[in-house]
Amino acid sequence: MTDILEVKDLHTSIDGQEILKGVNLIVREGEIHALMGPNGTGKSTLANVLMGHPSYEVTKGQILFKGEDLTEMATDERARMGLFLAFQYPVAIPGVSVANFLRQAINAHRKAQDPEYKGISIPEFRKLLKEKMDLLEMAHEFAGRYLNDGFSGGEKKRAEILQLATLEPSIAILDETDSGLDIDALRIVANGVNTLSGPDLGVLIITHYQRILNYIKPDKVHIMLDGQIVESGGADLAQHLEEQGYDWVREKHNGKVQG
Ligand code: ADP
Ligand code: MG
Repeated sequence: MTDILEVKDLHTSIDGQEILKGVNLIVREGEIHALMGPNGTGKSTLANVLMGHPSYEVTKGQILFKGEDLTEMATDERARMGLFLAFQYPVAIPGVSVANFLRQAINAHRKAQDPEYKGISIPEFRKLLKEKMDLLEMAHEFAGRYLNDGFSGGEKKRAEILQLATLEPSIAILDETDSGLDIDALRIVANGVNTLSGPDLGVLIITHYQRILNYIKPDKVHIMLDGQIVESGGADLAQHLEEQGYDWVREKHNGKVQG
């Protein structure tokens, strides 16, 4: 069975205000999806809810992953099931190296599968890390730096992509919208996604701007407006947005989606 993330009629409120108003979305392993839309339409809210952020209340609908209902599951449980959720604003952990952090993350995942697991050995971990860094063409020194401590935007993205590579999730969700990615960071994310995506990995890229899609070709593009996905199509839909902006989406759907 393909691993699939399925969002069904998802409604979400924060502080009593409804933000998501019936989101439906299916991402299968091996597919690259882009979720686009004007600012303030609920894209990051969806990412946060998929992640299990405690501030958001799911008032209706379901999130299914590999056939299981995630809706009430804790963030770490979702991660251990094979869902990768990137943080838009990753925190710095001075004193903990990128390598150490990744080792802990791998151990946490493996222990969840097998309570008897004693932890990955240093040689096995070194080999794995080297393999992944080579695949992503990263300098090995990077692994020795303290996680996100004084990292540039590009370096934060590099750490995120390396984490994605080592944890080998089946679905990855990347919210890139408001992070003000410079071109360097954008390329790191795009190259990472292009290198890692394949039959075992599905990706949902959340983005306001079309420009990252100059480097990544999505299988499907969705447009969110007012807490709902109102348009879905192929890569040409992103191209259309680049040329036309979002006004036509608003014109077409105004009145249909009410706040
Ligand atoms: P997008 O990522 O598409 O720009 P968001 O999901 O960040 O949109 O925001 C959607 C709507 O939810 C906005 O109107 C925003 O003001 C509101 N919102 C988001 N987070 C919160 C919060 N923590 N408290 C109250 N309102 C919020
Ligand atoms: Mg956002």
